[in-house]
Amino acid sequence: MERRPRVKPVDAPCLPVPVRSRPPGPAMPLSRRAFLATATAAASLPLTERLHALRLARPVAAGGAAPSRPCVVASDNGLRGVRRAYDLLVRGDDTLDAAIAGVNIQELDPEDQSVGLGGLPNAEGVVQLDASCMHGPTRRAGAVACLEDIATPSLVAKAVMDYTDHVMLVGRDAKRFALQMGFREQPLLTEKSRQDWLRWRARLNPSDFWLDHDEDVEIRSTTGTINMNAVNAAGDLSSVTTTSGMAYKIPGRVGDSPIVGAGQYCDNTVGAAGSTGRGEANIKVCGGFLTVEFMRQGLAPRQAALRTLERMLAMTEARLLDAKGRPRFDIQVYALNKAGEHGAASMYEGSQYAVCDAGGARLEPCAFLFRRSEYPAGPVPVQRARGR
Ligand code: ASP
Repeated sequence: MERRPRVKPVDAPCLPVPVRSRPPGPAMPLSRRAFLATATAAASLPLTERLHALRLARPVAAGGAAPSRPCVVASDNGLRGVRRAYDLLVRGDDTLDAAIAGVNIQELDPEDQSVGLGGLPNAEGVVQLDASCMHGPTRRAGAVACLEDIATPSLVAKAVMDYTDHVMLVGRDAKRFALQMGFREQPLLTEKSRQDWLRWRARLNPSDFWLDHDEDVEIRSTTGTINMNAVNAAGDLSSVTTTSGMAYKIPGRVGDSPIVGAGQYCDNTVGAAGSTGRGEANIKVCGGFLTVEFMRQGLAPRQAALRTLERMLAMTEARLLDAKGRPRFDIQVYALNKAGEHGAASMYEGSQYAVCDAGGARLEPCAFLFRRSEYPAGPVPVQRARGR
């Protein structure tokens, strides 16, 4: 029977239910013996189920017999986070615990206006957070959406995974759950983010009664998120995505980040993937899941990420395309396979992603579909916030 984590009281401010995911068990790459066992078991199934079982069991052919190796990849704001997660991984921590410890840095950083504490609020000035996670070895997932007043939604998502039979909790009930689990309530709207919101609101309508203050303000209509994916030496994978979502969104709006299969996805037999950028584009193609499926079909992580972006483009509504079919938004996809190979892609040239492996923590360039110079002129609905 699967071991369940035990609930312990929380004693640290804004910290998390201090529960570790299952300790890394024995090495779990799909061995020849395990594959044959799956194949034998599958032989007794009806044909369609048999094919499904065999395909699902297909191990990643990462350049032949490349060994799994520890690696963490994230959006570019996760440079500090991948370093922390990698250090935890190599000392033997669970992949999800390590990745969440990595994203906690941004969640708790009041200067990062795209995630957790200090995140830019919705149109009513309320910070609403989304997050989801998946634990590859135990095939579990958790998520929260529209969570208020708790700085670490990634850990609340994990608590949903660890302590409930559900996958997602939303809104005030997600907060109630978090408080019951020992998370601490705190104001998330920093003075800087409140000022930005006031200026955004003042300039919404030129004929309202708010003075615009055009001269001293750069209005940042940003989005921003952190996605992190980790694999350890045994080939066990996990993924997490956490965000304050689109700045000044309509209250109640939920982006891709808390949607398992969109904002992040992880299959321990294949790899993990996630996304930052315009969540509405990602939700429509289930981008995290799709990227993992492309890797299952044998694509390298970078190619898989590019193929997902192509699918997003194909699914983009006309109002968001220019006359040449180029999107008026940017979005990034990050991918990591079981062998520790990684890649990322962005609609437009110029994005980077964070990686940490035996070679250290660094930013690497994303592949892209369009050159930066091809970005359509005119109003840009969404820009990606640069994290620290
Ligand atoms: N994907 C996030 C959302 O749509 C925002 C972002 O990553 O910039 O909520």
